[in-house]
Amino acid sequence: MNFDLDPAYKALQAEARELARTVGPFAAAADEMSEVHPGVLAALRKSGLSSLMVPAAYGGRNEQPDPLAICLVREVLMGTSSHLDSLFALQGIGSYAISVGGSEEQRSTWLPRVARAESLAALALTEEDVGSDLKRVATELTETADGLRLHGSKSFISNAGAADFYIVFAKEAGAYSVVLVPANTKGVSISPTPVIMAPHVLGEMVFNNVTLPASARLGTPGRGLDLVFATLAVFRVSVAGAACGLARAALEEAVRHTRTRVQFGRPLAKLGPVAQMLADCWTELEMAQLLTYRAASYAVADPAAALPHSSMAKLAATEAASKIVDRCVQMMGRFGLIRNSKIERLYRQARPMRIYEGASEVLRLGIAKQLTEEVR
Ligand SMILES: Cc1cc2nc3c(=O)[nH]c(=O)nc-3n(C[C@H](O)[C@H](O)[C@H](O)COP(=O)(O)OP(=O)(O)OC[C@H]3O[C@@H](n4cnc5c(N)ncnc54)[C@H](O)[C@@H]3O)c2cc1C
Repeated sequence: MNFDLDPAYKALQAEARELARTVGPFAAAADEMSEVHPGVLAALRKSGLSSLMVPAAYGGRNEQPDPLAICLVREVLMGTSSHLDSLFALQGIGSYAISVGGSEEQRSTWLPRVARAESLAALALTEEDVGSDLKRVATELTETADGLRLHGSKSFISNAGAADFYIVFAKEAGAYSVVLVPANTKGVSISPTPVIMAPHVLGEMVFNNVTLPASARLGTPGRGLDLVFATLAVFRVSVAGAACGLARAALEEAVRHTRTRVQFGRPLAKLGPVAQMLADCWTELEMAQLLTYRAASYAVADPAAALPHSSMAKLAATEAASKIVDRCVQMMGRFGLIRNSKIERLYRQARPMRIYEGASEVLRLGIAKQLTEEVR
């Protein structure tokens, strides 16, 4: 077994560090924004890293988007800015259905623009009454004499209002289908979602009897869930990568603080219970990172087959990140509570990660199902 990354992946980490370094000076401001920070977007464009999100035939770097590469980049970016991480990740999450299910026209229109980060992508699944239980979506797609009609609404959609196109999941004739909706389509209206504890570009969408050409369809009618699962299979593990990056950044803050702050005549780090917290944080981070890298490596070979491991990695890394950042705040005492300090931001940013792209409890159900079905 090789526990070291190939040189190409290490070079990619260096590229991501360079992008993070550029964004560093405005990360604190960008992470409190609920619209796209122009400086962060410009830096992402310049880095060329968005090209990781599309197949080589359309301006990408690999034959197909590489889950380990995406995971490693998110790990670095999230350590600096959740806004940057989210902009990067959504380029893939919001365009993968085109890569795997789009027509040649849809691919050649959108994917090269996604690769250059000239177009922003979004994936619209969630509705006011539908979150984890995706099969209950109420947004409806209907075939008409001259094309398709989309009617309904979506809620908590990342990049809504900023994206150039939306991949929309809807029910159709007792099954599920997916359509590509350009942002300027007549009948689509978008309003901001209320600002959440760790701000994020989020919007509410209404599709009021939107007329679309038949060519807006992605994939086979009624097979929309396949495209959603294909997207999750590639990108779920990258949330684990981001969680590892967040946890490492938190630990770095705590290490810096506990080495220099003296109480009871000694640096905090030399006090037994603080040292124990530091040791636990590092150990749990290493565990999460190993699982994440392994799951991502499996996903490179076969994303669908790797999904149970990707789910385990997402579950373990996001839960670990929450515990780690909480302990880091504890070790930093009142200095960990200062509004908009790095550690306080990380503390808030860790929380949504256990909810989106599969809440921890929902992931556990899937993992246990896989385990018991394998044993049978
Ligand atoms: C920052 C952020 C960005 C987002 N971006 C997007 C986006 O771009 N596109 C999009 O479509 N959606 C997006 N979402 C929505 C996200 O996908 C949903 O929040 C997620 O699917 C969970 O749905 P819910 O919040 O409605 O929680 P619910 O489904 O109502 O679940 C609430 C809680 O109940 C428990 N639970 C639910 N089901 C089960 C079960 N079967 N067994 C055991 N426990 C269960 C879990 O603890 C869960 O956290 C985003 C959310 C956030 C916070």
